[in-house]
Amino acid sequence: MRWTRASRSAGVPSGVRIASRPPRGRLTIVAFILLFALLLSGAAPEKHLSVYSVAANYSLPLVQRDGREYVGLIEVLEPLGTVSGKADGLRWRLRYNNVVGEFQHGKSHARIQGLDSDLHAKFLLENKRGLVPVAALGSILPRILGGPVTLHEESARLFIGSVATHFTASLASADPPRLVFHFSAPVNPTISTEPGSLHMTFNREPLVAPASPTLTFGNRAISTANYGENNGAAVVTVSASIPLMATFSSDGRTITISSPGATSQNIPPSPPGPQVTTGTAATVPAPTPPAAPVSRRYFAIVDASHGGSDYGETLSTALLEKDVTVALARSLRQELESRGITTLVLRDSDANVSLDQRALVANANHAAIYIALHAASSGHGVRVYTSLLPFGDDDRGPFRSWTTAQHASLQLSRTAATAIAAELQRRQIPVRAMGAPLRPLNNVTGPAIAVEVAPQGSDLSQLLAPDYQQLITSAVATAIAATRDQLGVAP
Ligand SMILES: [Zn+2]
Repeated sequence: MRWTRASRSAGVPSGVRIASRPPRGRLTIVAFILLFALLLSGAAPEKHLSVYSVAANYSLPLVQRDGREYVGLIEVLEPLGTVSGKADGLRWRLRYNNVVGEFQHGKSHARIQGLDSDLHAKFLLENKRGLVPVAALGSILPRILGGPVTLHEESARLFIGSVATHFTASLASADPPRLVFHFSAPVNPTISTEPGSLHMTFNREPLVAPASPTLTFGNRAISTANYGENNGAAVVTVSASIPLMATFSSDGRTITISSPGATSQNIPPSPPGPQVTTGTAATVPAPTPPAAPVSRRYFAIVDASHGGSDYGETLSTALLEKDVTVALARSLRQELESRGITTLVLRDSDANVSLDQRALVANANHAAIYIALHAASSGHGVRVYTSLLPFGDDDRGPFRSWTTAQHASLQLSRTAATAIAAELQRRQIPVRAMGAPLRPLNNVTGPAIAVEVAPQGSDLSQLLAPDYQQLITSAVATAIAATRDQLGVAP
């Protein structure tokens, strides 16, 4: 079964619309569905394997034999290359591109390119169709395909090559609560809700778990988001004490979870849209006009640089810059908030977030200050960077050039950087302030700086020491608090 041809979800009765990718020309779609809709069909869901690859994402039915899950090997390989299978008595010969595999009915070993391969359970030949245990795919496919394969056996999800989609979730505002999910690639989950939770089910997307499967937000209305996998799908469940709905961005990379009654503050009211109801289950896909710039909700945006497959600097064999920056960001948020400065941490999990996305979030929030955090093994103490703008790429008409978006705010950025350097110096931490062509500083329209933290001496473990982190983040927070009137009026 290919998703491109298959119906979206076996359990959904016809007539119930599922949040779908918005049609061209519509920027957002609001979907509000009750889980009840999914429960209307009582049939047990068919078990299937989801396969994610650069060539195609697809879903295959699984069959149970001797208490194990089996899948047709030809079906697994067919979307990926030229494949054929030939039965000869109890023997079965597989050909995939130039690779040859020899299988035998009832035998738990096969030969692939002449090498013995353990199948973990018996190979089965049924009506000339070669069936292999799902558990064997993780070991035999790398040999057949000649590349890395990751099998999530429990949840029947198979990742061929580096295809994972990562995500982050953070509260964009606390009251009314708005939880924003950013994805490293476009997604189109089915949305369902029940009292106390909203589920996003990703059947076709190679979504993988964040660093911690449970994300907590410290908000009374929206408390946590949980990641789980089951039967070929990834499911993110948002727990809340209020009704929730999901809003999709036009590029499919952002989903905002908020209360249906509370969106008017940030998103213009929707024009009347088509409404579909099925019994007590209601779906309201209401097209909305382009989202207006979000009103300022946060004074500071703290960006934990790097993340996901971007490790940043490998500080030591056990220490990656992307992990140090998240710890620094959380420490800085605490220091800022204890000084009454509302703060959003832009990357609070191990996700891929592009530099453009980071700048877009900062610009959309109209934060009074954007602070990117970096860590380094070389140099001593702290470096504070402001943008070094390129020449000759000026704004044209009403459009602000992306590469020089920082231009109008550069003076304020330098004010903040100078204040931070002075405060660090006062606390006897070595510090340098300088301009650097460091992205995404150039692309941020408001005041923007980057703070790079190195150990004071040669001891790299200092970078993860909470007291050293706090020594620096408290100095940064004190300087930001001292210049807050210049930077802007806090919300
Ligand atoms: Zn860095």
